[in-house]
Amino acid sequence: MEQKFSYEVLNNYSKLAERTRPALCERDSLLNAVMGLSGEAGEILEHVKKGLFQGHSIDKGKLVEELGDVVWYVDYLRAVLSVEWAGVLEGNVKKLEKRYPERVFVAVRSVDRGSIGDSF
Ligand SMILES: [Mg+2]
Repeated sequence: MEQKFSYEVLNNYSKLAERTRPALCERDSLLNAVMGLSGEAGEILEHVKKGLFQGHSIDKGKLVEELGDVVWYVDYLRAVLSVEWAGVLEGNVKKLEKRYPERVFVAVRSVDRGSIGDSF
């Protein structure tokens, strides 16, 4: 696969984040990563929900902090799956290029994924 991006920042982040991961077996690491990722995404959702429906202010700094937590768990899951950042990101770009060959969002392609053999 041709490398489209520089992964230096992400790889440096991964080296730092790796030190803060718990030492668990593979099964528990997978569970911890996916549960944590969901939990952190839920924290973002909760913050925005409270901002929109319960009179709280939406704090961009809080969202950025939680986004960092999401990234930590994404990196953790990436490591558990033994895949490099290039495999994750370039695979995603390849999927998007297939779905949106015009390189712009087209709603009908988002809805009708079956016709291009893309079930995700
Ligand atoms: Mg958090």
